[in-house]
Amino acid sequence: MSNALRLGRYSFGVGDRFAHQAKAQLRACAQAAARGVEVTPVWNKSHREHTIVGSRPASVLAAAQAAVRELDWTKPFHVDADHIRLDTVDEFIDSSDFYTLDVADSIGQPADAGEVRAFVERHPELVGRLEIPGIAEPFETTRADIERVASKYLKAVGEAGRIYRHVASRKGEGNFITEVSMDETDSPQTPPELLVILSAIADERIPAQTVAPKFTGRFNKGVDYVGDVAQFEKEFGDDIAVIAHAVSAYDLPDNLKLSVHSGSDKFSIYAPVRRALARTGAGLHVKTAGTTWLEEITGLAESGGEGLRLAKEIYAVALDDIEALCAPYAAVIDIDRAKLPSKEEVQGWTPGQFTGALRHDLLSERYNPSLRQLLHVGYKVAARMGERYLRMLEAYEPAVARNVTENLYERHLKPLFIGG
Ligand SMILES: [Zn+2]
Repeated sequence: MSNALRLGRYSFGVGDRFAHQAKAQLRACAQAAARGVEVTPVWNKSHREHTIVGSRPASVLAAAQAAVRELDWTKPFHVDADHIRLDTVDEFIDSSDFYTLDVADSIGQPADAGEVRAFVERHPELVGRLEIPGIAEPFETTRADIERVASKYLKAVGEAGRIYRHVASRKGEGNFITEVSMDETDSPQTPPELLVILSAIADERIPAQTVAPKFTGRFNKGVDYVGDVAQFEKEFGDDIAVIAHAVSAYDLPDNLKLSVHSGSDKFSIYAPVRRALARTGAGLHVKTAGTTWLEEITGLAESGGEGLRLAKEIYAVALDDIEALCAPYAAVIDIDRAKLPSKEEVQGWTPGQFTGALRHDLLSERYNPSLRQLLHVGYKVAARMGERYLRMLEAYEPAVARNVTENLYERHLKPLFIGG
C-alpha cells in the first residue's frame, strides 16, 4: 500500500488549547531543522478538547497556516483529528489531513467465532515459532494464543476500517495520513499482540502510517514516565522490530511507525528511545497535548504582576473544581491531594515560587508534580475566562512564547531526536 501523503520519519504532535502558540511551537521545529534534524510538526486537537475549550476544528488549521506563513516554513506540517471515532469525525473532514482513529473502546469485545477462525486460517504464519529480525527470543505461539488475541482485537481493527473508509470516501484515498490508536485502554499490547493487530490492519486494508499501542508503564499527563524503564526499552525495541517485520510480510505502508501518546515530559525514556531509533533507523511520532498550555501558565507567572495574579486565580479555581476537572482524565493522572498547596499559600507566592512548583525540573526541590497535573487538566478554567485569558496571553506574549519554544526544543525534540 502506498500513500500520496507521506508522514516523515520524525514527527511531533503538539496541542495548542487556545490557538495562540503555533508560531512558538513551530519555532522549536525550526531550531531542530537548523541542527539538521527534520521533525514534522503535527497540530492535534481532539473532539473532547474542542468541546471543553469551545473551539472548532477549522481554527487549528488556520493557526497552523498562519504560523507556517510567518516563519516561512516550507517543509510539511499536518493537522491531526485526534482520537476521533465514527460519531465525531465529520467535523474534521475539511480541516485535517491526519486522522487518529481511536478504537480502544472496541478492544476486548469478543469477535465473531467464524471471523476468528477465518483470521487464523488466513495467517498460519502467526502460529508456532516466529523468528523476527531484531528480537533476540523468537515468539512461541499456539493456535489458541492467536485465536485469543484475534478475538480481543478484531472488532477494534474492524472499527478502524469503518472509520478509515468513511474518511476516504469524503477526502479520497491517499489524501490523508492514518493513525490507529489503541492507547486509551487498560492493558498494554505486547509485541506479539502488536503483530497480530498489524496483520489484521493489513487485512482490513487500512494504510496506517502510525500505530499507537498502549505501552507498559504509566504515561500520565505532563509528568515523567512511571514504570520499569528497562522493560519499556525492551518492548519499544521489540515493537520497532515487529513493525519492520509486518511491513515486509504484509501490505502496509513502508513508513509505518510507532506513535507515543501522552508523550510530553517522559524524560526517563527519551534516551532509550533515541538509542533505539539510532540503532534501527526507525521513525517515531510523539504526541503531546497540554504541555504547551502549562508553558503559557509558566510564562504568565514568570512575568509577575497581572500575569502572576491570573496564574494564581486559575490554580485557586482549579483546586475548588478538582473533582470535575480530573474526572475525564482519571486514567492518565495521579494527583496526591495532600501535596497540593492551599489557595492561601499560593496567593503569597513569588513568580519564582510559582514557576518552581510548576516547572518539570526533577532536580528542583520546589517541583510539585501534583500541582503540575492539576493545572494540566485545569485548562477548562482558562477556557471559561474566555477573552480575559486570551488578552493576558497577548499581553505577555514574549515570555509565554519563549517558554513554549524552549520547553518543546530543549526538553523534548533535543533529547528525543538530536541528543547531546
Ligand atoms: Zn492517546
